[in-house]
Formats: sequence, C-alpha cells, structure tokens
Amino acid sequence: MGDRTIQLPEKVGRIIGTLQEHGYEAYAVGGCIRDSILGREPEDWDITTSAMPEETKALFDKTFDTGIQHGTITVLLEKEGFEVTTYRIDGKYEDSRHPKEVTFTRNLREDLLRRDFTINAMALNLRGELRDPFCGQSDLAAGVLRCVGEPERRFEEDALRILRGMRFASVLGLRVEEATAMGIHRCAPLLAQIAPERIAKELMGLLVGARADAVLREYPNVIGVFWPEILPMVGFDQRNRHHCYDVWEHTLHALSYTPPDPVVRCVMLLHDIGKPKTFTLDAEGHGHFRGHPLVSRDLSEEMLRRLKCSNAFCQIVTRLVEWHDRGICQDERTLRRALYSLGEQDLRRLLVIKRADNLAQSPAFRQRQAELDWAEKELARLLDEQACMSLRDLAVNGKDLTDMGLRGPEIGAMLETLLERVVDGELPNDSAVLLDTARQLRAYALARKDQVLGGK
Ligand code: ATP
Ligand code: MG
Repeated sequence: MGDRTIQLPEKVGRIIGTLQEHGYEAYAVGGCIRDSILGREPEDWDITTSAMPEETKALFDKTFDTGIQHGTITVLLEKEGFEVTTYRIDGKYEDSRHPKEVTFTRNLREDLLRRDFTINAMALNLRGELRDPFCGQSDLAAGVLRCVGEPERRFEEDALRILRGMRFASVLGLRVEEATAMGIHRCAPLLAQIAPERIAKELMGLLVGARADAVLREYPNVIGVFWPEILPMVGFDQRNRHHCYDVWEHTLHALSYTPPDPVVRCVMLLHDIGKPKTFTLDAEGHGHFRGHPLVSRDLSEEMLRRLKCSNAFCQIVTRLVEWHDRGICQDERTLRRALYSLGEQDLRRLLVIKRADNLAQSPAFRQRQAELDWAEKELARLLDEQACMSLRDLAVNGKDLTDMGLRGPEIGAMLETLLERVVDGELPNDSAVLLDTARQLRAYALARKDQVLGGK
C-alpha cells in the first residue's frame, strides 16, 4: 500500500506538470488517490491547485468553466476532460448542502480540511509525495472511515456526507469510527433537506456495495428518514416456521446473497416491505402475510417515486417485487409463461431473487434451491431452442390472417390467442398448424355469432 506505487495517468501528470512549471502547486486529490492506494481503478482524476481559476485557464488551450464560482475548471486534453479546482475553504453552509461562499487559498492543508473523510483528504504530486495531514492512509490500511474534523459539524454542513460515508463503508468494507458513527445517527434527520435525486444516487451506490447488509443493519434509522416504510420491518417477528429471522434480518440476509445489480438489490430491500401491514395470526398462533407482494409493490412504487427514480427503474423493481413470491418453477408451462411476461433478463433476475429469498429462510425450508436449479436449466433449454416468446417469433403474421379474410382488431386478437397457445406449449410454432387453428377458431366464432343472431 505504499504511495510510491501510484502511477498518475499521463494526462494528469501533464496538467500537474504545466501548473508546476508556472510556479503553482498542483496535486491529484481525493477519491482517485484513495482508490489508487486500494488498487482500485479510480472513476475520475481530480486535480487541486494553488492557481486561481483565471490563472489555470491561461495555461491551457481548451477549458470550460464547469463550476467557476466554486473554483472548478475543466481542462480538455485530446477530448478528455479533467477537473482542476483551486484550493478553497468552504464558507458557511446555508442548506446543509451548498456553501454560501467559497474562499480561495494558496494553502493545500486548508483545502484538504474541507473534505469529508480522511481517506478522501489525501493529495499526491508529480514527485510521488503524498500529502496526508489527517492520516487517511493509515485509516485506509486499518479499514476505518473517519470524518475530517468534528463529525457532527461536518454532517451539519452537508448532510449528504452521511450517505456518502455509508456508501464508502459499504463499497470498501470500512468500519465507521465511533464519533463518526455517532454523528451519522445524530444528524440523520438533516437528510430531509437533501434533494431526492442525490439521495437516490448515494443509496444505489450503497446498495451495490459488498457490505450493504452490514451498513443497513447499523443504520436503518438513516434510511428511515426518507423511507420511513423501512422501519416497521426492523424487529418484526414473523411467527412462522419458514422463518428464523425477523423481517428486517431476513431482508438483509437475502440481500447478502445477491450479486451487485441495483435492480436486484433494490427489489431485495423492498420485497417484504408490505409484511408488517398484512400480518395476521391464525388460531394456532402462526403468522401469515397474505397478499404482501402486492402491498410491497404499492409501497415500493411510492418510495421509488419519492426519490425521483426513473420510470424504467421503478417499473422493473415494482414488477419483480410483485412477482417475488409467485410459483414459477413447478413446470415448464408456468416457466414459459413467466419468460413470456418478463423477458429473459428480468426472469433471470427473478430467479436470483427467489434463490436469495429462500436462502434467507429457516434451514429446513431451503429445499426450494433444487426447484431453482431446475428452472435455470429449463430456461437455458428454452432459450437454446429459441422458444417462441413474442409475436415477432410467431410462425404466422398479420398478413397471413388478412389473406384468410380476418379484418381489423380480429387480427391482433387472433395473433395473441395463437401466441398464448404456443407459449403454453399447446401448439407447435408451425405455420400450417397455426393457420389451421386460426381457421377453426374463426369458423367457431362465426357459427356462434350466427347462433346468437338466429336466436333473436
Ligand atoms: P467517487 O468518485 O467514488 O464517488 P469521490 O470521493 O471521488 O468518490 P467525488 O464526488 O468524485 O467523490 O468527489 C471528489 C472529492 O471531493 C472527494 O474525494 C472529497 O475529497 C471531496 N468531496 C466530494 N463531495 C464532498 C462533500 N459532500 N463534502 C466534502 N468533500 C467532498
Ligand atoms: Mg471521484
């Protein structure tokens, strides 16, 4: 984990070099240094400099004023953009997010002081010298997330840092240092002031992290600030022999068995959210949750809309929440129907979700895994033989039916009927057989019509 191993990308080196040649200080800073030390590929390389924005602009051919009031210029090198920000001290924060004003400084330490966590407050120059006044490197080595400065003050300045911190803890598997953890708990209500889109972005980042389950377990109250629907799950005793965990623990265990796909992780978090509302107790004292998938779906929809998630994301997640408990693995026909309704990608997701859901039940009830193995094999077979799953694949089309004498809406309805039978495996996807069936169905429909009219 030595800083000497960090190789600055050539263009980043060029920008820093140009600034230095003109007498300014310049460093790669923040997330890129953190990720490099960890051996992870940085998302982007930010540069911090003692040069004032206008001074930076004067040194490069192509620049954009990305956020010039906050000191940020984008330098374009061969169409690749790099953000170069003047060392700054953030002024008083007005709304837990925006500093009212920023003051530029020529002192790197003051710039590092405004950054959120010690692991994000390191800077590296061209000579490979690491500036790390808050011991971010040793925190990183020890796997610790710690605020720069006094945690509560930092979260009061900008409440989004609470979720950023939880995201780093989840993605990088960090332990949150005590005072920082306390600050998160105390300042959580301030998240109410943060724009929903920004919350959603951090939340999704947190959910796909390797330790999402552990972080959620520690801070349900934080999630509860914008999603209070989560809270009744915590500690909710299911009183059901299928379950060895309360609803929240079951949810977290299920989540830990899923791959880091934002859709799947989000479905897992929300799949049982309707359980507390649908709970009933039978005469023997067993708990039931009849209809919970639909209630979970409705709640999920409201919650995702509240965070301004995209329609597409919302639709997929709510659909899979609704489907999570449906039996689709009993026989070929139900599986074919599910494939027809959901399409390959979402059916695959559903199988992953069902597997994780089942793994998080009582050990004695985990035998569903065999059904899921079967469903996966069967799905592979269906896809392999290119089973007909949409009108596009059907061996007859609208023109064939027009030639047969069908008109207008009759055509669409007939195609749907034929497709359903093919999907169900009742008919082969063979044009002669399908045309023959269409003829019979039509003759039958006409005869019925005559009968009804004749009876009048
Ligand atoms: P990632 O790019 O992986 O999301 P990052 O830490 O690089 O993580 P950015 O949003 O790219 O996050 O910010 C770059 C740097 O700016 C951070 O490393 C941190 O030093 C500083 N920073 C970003 N957001 C904040 C904030 N809300 N409060 C204080 N410092 C921040
Ligand atoms: Mg970054």
